Amino acid sequence: MITKTKTALVIGCNGQDGALICNSLLKKGYKVIGGSRNGKDNLDKLNQLGIEKEFEIKKADIKNSNEIEKLISYCQPETIFNLAAQSSVGKSINQPIDTVEGIVNGTLNLLEVSRKINYTGKIFFAGSCEMFGNTETKADIHHKQNPRSPYGIAKQTSFNLVKLYREIHSLKCVTGVFFNHESHLRNESFVTQKIVKSAYEIKNNRQKKLKLGNIDIIRDWGWAPEYIEAVQLITNSPNLKDHIICSGVSNSLKIFIEKVFNSYGLNWHEHIEIDKNFLRQNDIKSSYGDPNPLFKDLGWKAKVDLDSIIVNLIKLSNRN
Ligand code: NDP
Repeated sequence: MITKTKTALVIGCNGQDGALICNSLLKKGYKVIGGSRNGKDNLDKLNQLGIEKEFEIKKADIKNSNEIEKLISYCQPETIFNLAAQSSVGKSINQPIDTVEGIVNGTLNLLEVSRKINYTGKIFFAGSCEMFGNTETKADIHHKQNPRSPYGIAKQTSFNLVKLYREIHSLKCVTGVFFNHESHLRNESFVTQKIVKSAYEIKNNRQKKLKLGNIDIIRDWGWAPEYIEAVQLITNSPNLKDHIICSGVSNSLKIFIEKVFNSYGLNWHEHIEIDKNFLRQNDIKSSYGDPNPLFKDLGWKAKVDLDSIIVNLIKLSNRN
């Protein structure tokens, strides 16, 4: 347990990871301050965790330097977690400007403000495996980068900016490159949530079919509540080093579907329809990472496997 005097600023506090990390930090005794574009207008994820009243939430857009400078000056945080992003790869194809501006300008803005005000605390940036594109082998942090979406390009650029500011301005900033991680707090527009919701609706005779695109894609899925513990280890380490946060286990979306439908006693073949309109030319076929460097360096590895992730998703979203 640490003393209440440690302050953490969580930008993007009402996202999946933002809400989970606020919860984790509060439990550890941190003073938490949340930053959100909407201020207190929409706190659904914090509400779901029952922590919306346990800390202060300030309205701030990460792209706005005045707002971010004011926020840092106000909080005087030991650590800033930058989790804010338009986080959907699919949306980034149709909304590239918003996505890239939010992620790249937002990250650069935070770094520049921190440099100008001589901020001496730590800054965590949420990177993404989308910066690698397809991975033919388990990706480590040095894997070839070939992003296939505006989102992936924005995360790649921001990753490089964070590295640059650490190296040339000695800012204490670091990236955790996330592979997919899920929880009941994930937005319902994401495919994993869509599958759980649809299987539940089908089971209850309120839906017959679910249309999907490429179900042969391979992903490395993890459980978000444990990934945000890795975030804190990476950020608190005296030797700041960018790391991959992944399970190292690859599964196809088809397997994910099969496991979810089996949980409801359903045969997925009878309910899943492949719709060509959902096939994306830029879809990454295979994406999985190497968990060993993070384990060797900081002793963290994923413990929750895909079966348990699915059990948790069903239970925590009250769909059992
Ligand atoms: P969410 O989409 O759940 O949350 C992102 C949050 O960012 C939202 O609360 C959103 O606020 C906020 N946000 C967006 N733009 C801005 C802005 N300009 N200023 C302030 N806040 C903003 O994402 P996750 O929690 O799942 O992901 C957290 C981070 O990790 C993101 O950066 C994401 O890209 C990255 N990541 C996540 C992965 C995953 O599997 N979950 C995988 C790889 C990377 P609002 O509610 O206003 O829209």
